[in-house]
Amino acid sequence: MHELTLAERAIGIVEAAARKAEARRVTRIRLSIGALAHVDPDTMQYCCEVVSRDTLAAGAQIEVVRAPGLAWCATCSAEVALKQIGEPCPQCGGYQLNITDGDQMQVVDISIE
Ligand SMILES: [Zn+2]
Repeated sequence: MHELTLAERAIGIVEAAARKAEARRVTRIRLSIGALAHVDPDTMQYCCEVVSRDTLAAGAQIEVVRAPGLAWCATCSAEVALKQIGEPCPQCGGYQLNITDGDQMQVVDISIE
C-alpha cells in the first residue's frame, strides 16, 4: 500500500528528529500531503499510527493537512491551482498541464517532550 510506505518514511524522519533532539517522546506530528499526491489523508493517518507503534512517536497526535496542487498550464503560460489530478486548467479548460507542486508528502513539524 502506497500510504504505508509513505507513513514508514514519515515516521522515520520524525523519529530521527526526535532522537537528535533527545526527546523522550513525540506528542504531535503534522504532515502535509499535496492535493495531487495519490494519498488518502485518513488512510495516511491510520498508517502512521500503525507504523509509529514501538517508536518514540507512539501515541502521538497525527494531523494531516492538505497542500494545494499547482500546475503549469502550457496553454495559458501560467501557474494554476489544481484540486486534483485529471482536472482541466481552471482558466482555459485545457489539459496541457505539468504538475509543479502538490504531489509531495512532507513532515511539517513535530512536538516533542
Ligand atoms: Zn490554462
